[in-house]
Amino acid sequence: MTAPKTRYFDSNATTSVAPEVLQSMLPYFTENWGNPSSPYRLGKKLVEPIELARESAAALIGADSSEVIFTSCGTESINTAITSCLYSQPAKKHIVTTAVEHSATKNSCAALAGRGYAVTYLPVNRDGSLDLGLFEASLRPDTAVVSIMWANNETGVLFPIAQIAAICRKRKILVHTDAVQIPGKLTIDVNELGVDLLSLSAHKFHGPKGVGLLYVRKGTPFWPLIIGGHQEEGNRGGTENVPYIVAFGRAAELARAISTQSRQKLAALRDSLENEIFSKIPGTSRNGAREPRLPNTTSISFTGVDAEALLMMFDQLGICASSGSACTTGSVAPSHVLTAMQLNPTEARSTIRFSLDYETTPEDVAFLMSHLPRLITELRSAASPRTAARLTSSKPALAAQAM
Ligand code: PLP
Repeated sequence: MTAPKTRYFDSNATTSVAPEVLQSMLPYFTENWGNPSSPYRLGKKLVEPIELARESAAALIGADSSEVIFTSCGTESINTAITSCLYSQPAKKHIVTTAVEHSATKNSCAALAGRGYAVTYLPVNRDGSLDLGLFEASLRPDTAVVSIMWANNETGVLFPIAQIAAICRKRKILVHTDAVQIPGKLTIDVNELGVDLLSLSAHKFHGPKGVGLLYVRKGTPFWPLIIGGHQEEGNRGGTENVPYIVAFGRAAELARAISTQSRQKLAALRDSLENEIFSKIPGTSRNGAREPRLPNTTSISFTGVDAEALLMMFDQLGICASSGSACTTGSVAPSHVLTAMQLNPTEARSTIRFSLDYETTPEDVAFLMSHLPRLITELRSAASPRTAARLTSSKPALAAQAM
């Protein structure tokens, strides 16, 4: 039996490496394989491509290239950002974050709490939004860092980072944002945003896995996490991963070139998927505010459906999606993001995240929708014939959900 064609609705988990990006990195595995720190040409000639990649990366976020540190992934950038703010201000012991962060932040803060730091996890509203009054009230004289994600990877909900940064600035508190889900989907300008530190990861925007970026605003106190050689101006030891850094630069150029029109098209395709689900399948609801939200993401709960079972049926058809965060797949715990939004564990376990990409086609959406209503009916009937009968006779909630 031939494998079915892949229909990929999991771009928040990872994206394919763009052909241009792959081409850009290949020479650095073959003829240009030297060590950039070496004194001879084979190594020395690698300094320029690294610096060109740094400039492209800086241009993606409106920064100066001297403010860009290459890392091994988004998780490393986030860990570095938070610990740097703590270690460079030893008198301050308090971190403010939210209850819906990616595990890179959540577990990093939990580990720091175990070492004596105080952590405030801000709750979110039912629609995934943040209460700025509550945020401001959580700040203390000993707050060393506010680390709040810009876009939630599970729901796509955006937090008001510019407003958060302005509040922090007045109080001289350092602010870091996990912007891993942003490139290619929103324009990034670190000066408009006003953050002190910002994290990215190349594999979320058609670069390879295993290379990240940490932006550190000029003048921000900095304490490296990876201490070793003089690489990255002493801010991150370890021989540079030249092919991946070059690839980051090329992926950044491609992400920066994505037009507003393309983003609108992506949002329209996502909205058409949402509308079809709400109009064709009763007992469905979106998690998270409709706006402000990433243009590619929707999180949908299907009452009475076991999301893991649905994902297995999807897999048979070549459809890739996610139940909650990809990084927690395999764990039986319901998504901490959805439970923070006051879904009960059963509702959280009946949720699928669809995250589209510029490569997603209307035909992919049509294929998904040609199977989804039937799969939902089958799963509901198997789980509870009475619930299935009740939901089948109820009207789809288009008007309520699609606003
Ligand atoms: N932050 C967010 C919002 C993410 O979605 C991810 C990846 O899933 C990360 C951080 C971690 O990035 P990486 O996989 O590069 O460590």
